[in-house]
Parts: sequence; structure tokens; C-alpha cells
Amino acid sequence: MRAFLLAALALAAAPAFAQNAGPSASPAPTPSTPPKLIVAISVDQLSADLFAEYRNRFTGGFARLLQGAVFPSGYQGHASTETCPGHSTILTGMRPARTGIIANNWIDQKVARADKQVYCAEDERAPGSTSKAYTTSAIHLKVPTLGEMMKAANPASRMVAVAGKDRAAIMMGGHKVDELWYWKDKTFTSYAGRTEPPVLVRANAAVAALIAKPQEALPLPGFCKGMSQPVRVGEQTIGAGRFERAAGDVRAFRASPALDGAVLAIAAGLIQDMKLGRGAAPDIIAIGVAATDFVGHAYGLGGSEMCIQLAELDSALGSFFDTLDSWNIDYQIVLTADHGARDMPERQRQRAMPMEARVSPEVSAKAVGAAIGAALGVAGPVLLGSEGDIYVADDVPAARRPAIIAEAARRFRAMPQVAAALTAAEIAATPMPTGPPDIWTLAERARASYDPERSGDLLIMLKPHVTGIATPGVGYVATHGSPWDHDRRVPILFWRKGMAGFEQPRSVETIDIAPTLAATLGLKVSGLDGRCLDLDPGAGDTCRF
Ligand SMILES: [Zn+2]
Repeated sequence: MRAFLLAALALAAAPAFAQNAGPSASPAPTPSTPPKLIVAISVDQLSADLFAEYRNRFTGGFARLLQGAVFPSGYQGHASTETCPGHSTILTGMRPARTGIIANNWIDQKVARADKQVYCAEDERAPGSTSKAYTTSAIHLKVPTLGEMMKAANPASRMVAVAGKDRAAIMMGGHKVDELWYWKDKTFTSYAGRTEPPVLVRANAAVAALIAKPQEALPLPGFCKGMSQPVRVGEQTIGAGRFERAAGDVRAFRASPALDGAVLAIAAGLIQDMKLGRGAAPDIIAIGVAATDFVGHAYGLGGSEMCIQLAELDSALGSFFDTLDSWNIDYQIVLTADHGARDMPERQRQRAMPMEARVSPEVSAKAVGAAIGAALGVAGPVLLGSEGDIYVADDVPAARRPAIIAEAARRFRAMPQVAAALTAAEIAATPMPTGPPDIWTLAERARASYDPERSGDLLIMLKPHVTGIATPGVGYVATHGSPWDHDRRVPILFWRKGMAGFEQPRSVETIDIAPTLAATLGLKVSGLDGRCLDLDPGAGDTCRF
């Protein structure tokens, strides 16, 4: 095992590209027996646009998945296209309006902390937990995950989650995980009190040794050469980087392909040590590979960095799948993303998008709240903001709240960069959308991630060409979180050995994944927001059992 783990880590750090094109499509009928292991992979920030740009370049794991059931227009349909809401949809089959995960952070004015911010994957009641140094927990997730449904059907089923971010592991794992590990600061860790299994001890030692050494620049694949063009962003020049890093640079390790290599190596190690997929009941492992998101935020989407990242991930996924094959495990893969993204305005403007801009500092709850307070004669902070959600301060007398909400809406709507400012009443009055997600109205997108207990009194949406980062910084130049399709559209790929495969270009949703996988397992589920997708390209129907 140790040899494999080290090999996998080395593979992620050194650019050994798999040149095989993966197994060819088989004419065999879609397997009718349930798989023994569900492998659910989320590639953080892998937009449908990015996937379309690179899909013909892939030769490793992605090339294999492209021979299965391919849904290039999967939707995280909700407005709040952030990591926590997105991951909460993938294995629950529910929209954020029902998972309760409306954003990465929200405001809860009843919490005894100065900033009133609550993190999606924390337990704010835990002693010492703060919005920045939080105690991780799944308590905010209001619904069960597929792993919990499998356990309810057969307690012998095991649920394992490993990810580059705590919120990815927790939102896909749910409330009853057998193992759950995520990257935090400089090590893979878990909930307090959990014992590191041997594979984690070895992985953490191997990762520490990797970080302690300097990393030479990774080679540039031929198809990345045209993208390697320096761009000035604030005080930095990016766009032609190759992941060279100094000894001990943990942040550079995190925003590099090596993080994904470590996550996949740990996933393989847990599968082997726990004998997942070889017990009497089916098991599930959720894997969150986060480097694509860290790379996207740090370097944007259009440079050498993202090109190398995706080539390395393709290779690492290929090795991971080959390893599962070598163990003769009957596994069903789904791969998707928690949200998409778009490139930073500085490079966009050079590439035929002169209208791309960064958000103006005037679009803020603090600034608007101060102006309203002065105009209406209300003392103290009037508005609190958390990303697009705006809350009227609890100190404001109840009789004044309607006027303040109306005035805040009027002021935000008058701003040239704001597409919409929807009040909670307007969103709550909107029926949950039922049609194709590509044609939902903005109010329907907002409704899909609205929870009356947690959402703001007002939701602000920026116009399509406005990036939500006012001032770019090191590690943070480009982002997502908008209600527009570059942030909502993600690929959804299903693959299993022997599956004939097909491509369906029309829109489906990430909430369709859980009912689809449940059907392949022969597991009856009901009451989910999503629907089962038939993975048989012919007359057969994998949704019928
Ligand atoms: Zn994310």
C-alpha cells in the first residue's frame, strides 16, 4: 500500500501523462446488476465551459468517463453558485432550498459572536467555534445523503468521504460517515476525536515530505503552449506559471495538482484498507478534488496554470481508475462539479470581452446601510451582508424594517452593476422551478437556494459581466457565485465497466444524480427534488426496477 500511495503522490507531483486513450466503448448492454461501490467525484469549479474547452485533449480518466453517459449541460440551477450549496445537491437529490445550505456562509444574528457569520459546515454551538476557526459539523445539512439512504436500507453499507475541502467532504458525506477526511491548513484531518487510520498516517507523512521539498516547474503539455501568456493583475503577473514552489510553501501546494493527487491516493488507500466494494452491501465513497478551484481562484481559467491542472487531474484520475480495475472492484462512477466559474476580467478584456469589469465597492451592505441609516435617521448598523444576502439588523425596530428593505432594494436596483435585488417576500412567493434549468428566471434561480430561516431579507445579483471581487489579491483573482450559466453549468458524467454510453446535450440537474445512482443500486427513494436519469442508451431503462 505504501508503495502505491507514494507512487500516486509522485504521479501527481511529476507530470507523467498517461498516453493510453482508456478502454474503448463496449457494445455490451448496460449492466443490470447493482454495482458494489459508488465512486462520486466532485471537481471543484469544473464548469461546463472549461470541460468543453478541454474534452478533446483528455487521454486519462476524463477520456474514460467520456465513453459513459455524458451530460455536458448539468445544472447547479440555484442562484448561489458556491461550494457548500453545490456540494449539498450532489448526493442528496435536493436543491439548497431544502438542504438548507444556502451559501458558504450566512448571517445568524442570534449567534453570540461579533460578526454574526455562520459557516455552512460548522457547529456554532461548539465551545470556541468561530466563523473563521470553526468546529466542523454536518448539523446545518437538513436532509440525508445517498450514503445515509444506503445505510438505512442496509446497515452494512459504508459511506466514506475524502476531499480537499471540509465542506465538500461533509456535504457529500452527510451525517453518518464511516470515514471523513479533508485538507485543512497543512494536513488531512477529520472531526475532533476521530482516529487516523493507517493510510492517513502514511499520507500525511508523505504529503509533509512533499511540501518540505522545493517543486520544480511542471512541464507544459503541447496543447497548453498557446495559453501560456503572462497577464498583469493588480500587483501580480500570472498566466504562464507551472507550479514551481519553494520548500515549505503550503499555500502553493494547495493550489496545485499535487493536492488532488493526495486526495485520490487517500481515497484509493481507504478503498483498499476498508475493502470497500467487497462486502455484502454496496458502499459509497465521495471524493472532492479541490485543486481546480484553488487554481482557478489564484490564476484564472485561461492560462498555463489551469491547462496543466486539468491535464494532471486527467492523468491522476486515469491512474486512480486503473488502480480500482486492478483490484477487480465493480464500481459505478459519477463525476460532476459544485459550480462553474469564469475567467478574470483582466484576461477576458484581452480576449474580446472589453465589457468585463470588477464589482464597485459601492455595491455593499455596509455602504448602503450607512447611507440609509443617515437618510432615515436610524442609528447603528442598519444592514448586514454575507455575499449576495443582505439582512436588516435585528436592532432596527420592527416597524421600520419594511421601509428599510424597500429603500435598500431601490438603492441596489439603481446601481449600474446590479442585475436584480430581490426581496425575501418576492423570492418566497416564487414557486419552486420545475422546467428546464437553462430557462429559469432569476427569481426561480433565487428560489432554488432560498431558505426562510437562513437567507437574507434581500438578495443582490450582479450583472453578467461583473466579477464579484473588487480588488484582486494573491490567490484570489477570479471567482464564481453568480446566477449566470458560466457558474451554474457543470458536466455530469456516469461511467461503469460494460456500459454502452451516450451523450445527452439537453439540460439536466445535479439533483438528478442521487436518484439515478439509487436506481442503479435498486434502492427505492422518494420525495427528492431530482429525477432518475436513464443511463441505458437503448430501449432498456436503468430507472425501472
Ligand atoms: Zn467550489
